[in-house]
Amino acid sequence: MNLIRHAANEWWDVLAQVSDPEIPVLSVLDLGMIRGVELNLQNEIVVRLTPTYSGCPATDLLKAEITQAFVAKGLTPVNVVVDLSEAWTTDWMSEAGKQKLRQYGIAPPKGEAASCGTHVALSDGIECPHCRSQHTKLLSEFSSTACKALYKCQDCLEPFDYFKCI
Ligand SMILES: [Zn+2]
Repeated sequence: MNLIRHAANEWWDVLAQVSDPEIPVLSVLDLGMIRGVELNLQNEIVVRLTPTYSGCPATDLLKAEITQAFVAKGLTPVNVVVDLSEAWTTDWMSEAGKQKLRQYGIAPPKGEAASCGTHVALSDGIECPHCRSQHTKLLSEFSSTACKALYKCQDCLEPFDYFKCI
C-alpha cells in the first residue's frame, strides 16, 4: 500500500512537468486535464486524459509527451487513454494555473462555466492581467485561437487575451 502511494506521488510529479502545447507555462495538471492515474491488473500505469478541446490536433502530441515523460523516469509500461466521458471545462483549471496564466499575460477564465454564457461573460469588464484594471474593452470574440477573446485595457492601453470560460 505504501509502495503504491509513493508511486502515485511520483506519477503526479511527472505529470506536473508536462506542459500544454498551446500555453507552455501551464502543465496538464494546471489545466485539470488529468482525470486519474492508476495501475491496472496488468501492472500498466493508466493515465486518463481529457483534452481541453476534443478533436484538438494537440491531443496526439500531448499523449506522446505524457508517455515520454513516464518512460524517461523508467515508469513503464504506461498507457495514456483519452477520456471523453465528460467535456473539459475551465472549472477544472487549478488556482495555481489561473495565476500562471495571468503572469503569462492572459486573463484567466472568470467565474464558473455554469454561470457564464459566453456572451454575458464577454460583455463584462475582464480584469487586465497587466495592471488589474477592470476598465477593459472587448475587441474581438476570437483571438489567436477560438478559446480566447481579445481585449484592450483602457488604463494601461495593453491588448490582452482572455481565456474564455467554457
Ligand atoms: Zn491594464
